Amino acid sequence: MKYAMPLFRPPSEAFSLILQVTIGCSHNACTFCGMYKMKRFRIKEWDEIEADIREAEACARDTERIFLADGNALAMETGMMVKLLGKLYETFPRLKRVTSYAGPKDLLEKPVNELMLIRESGLTMLYLGVESGSDQILKEVRKGVSAAEMLEAGLRAKEAGFDLSVTVLTGLGGKSGSRLNAVETAIMLNKMQPDYIGALTLTPTPNTVLYNKMKKGEFTLIDPLESLQELKWMLENLSLDNCLFRCNHASNYLPLKGKLPEDRERLTALLGAVLENPGRYRLKPEYMRGL
Ligand code: SF4
Repeated sequence: MKYAMPLFRPPSEAFSLILQVTIGCSHNACTFCGMYKMKRFRIKEWDEIEADIREAEACARDTERIFLADGNALAMETGMMVKLLGKLYETFPRLKRVTSYAGPKDLLEKPVNELMLIRESGLTMLYLGVESGSDQILKEVRKGVSAAEMLEAGLRAKEAGFDLSVTVLTGLGGKSGSRLNAVETAIMLNKMQPDYIGALTLTPTPNTVLYNKMKKGEFTLIDPLESLQELKWMLENLSLDNCLFRCNHASNYLPLKGKLPEDRERLTALLGAVLENPGRYRLKPEYMRGL
């Protein structure tokens, strides 16, 4: 299948068939993100999508999982999305789940009954980049929505019945905003109650606005131990009913995984022990040179 590269997918979609139904990200303005800078956003024509599905059918008819790329496939008009999902479940008889990234504005712009229709048609899980629960930080990084709007977007996804997986970014507030980022993100997540949280570490990408600010000394990156401290603050403030918390992305210094609330004490105790005596733990050496 021909893809417009580069192609991104969440780590948990490693074994999914990737179907690129949109190109790029309709927002494409976050100061820390360089993922789709080279792409002009567009929703693919139905004929193009159908041709891709035919090609995928020929080589992966038994697929059980499909991820709809690129940055926010949910931007697709509701009728077209419903038609697409129908076509996918008809073409791939063993299909169990279809997932995609969602931008907060996609969730805010569609009425909840349309989101429900999309969910009922078989889009099972949405990945939402929350990044931070702080209004100030979301504004600084040009996320395009306020903290209240981000919360509303997540709540709408839940109300419509989607499994909700969110990503948050430690370090997004820089050194001075580290505690604020941790605490306000936890407060938002407590209200949103996502099913999955992936905590990533901010890693500035060259040629992004944030990277250039860092180079000019206008943004100070937190160091590895400060990143672990930020995670600890976040976990200490999280109060979730049933959530899988993962911190196992390539950007993370210490892999962490646990069910919340059950594993919260274990995770915070581990972070506390590492912060007290980092030399005793195997932290990712490529990132820890600065210690
Ligand atoms: S972080 Fe997400 S919403 Fe922001 S520009 Fe990147 S892909 Fe688009």
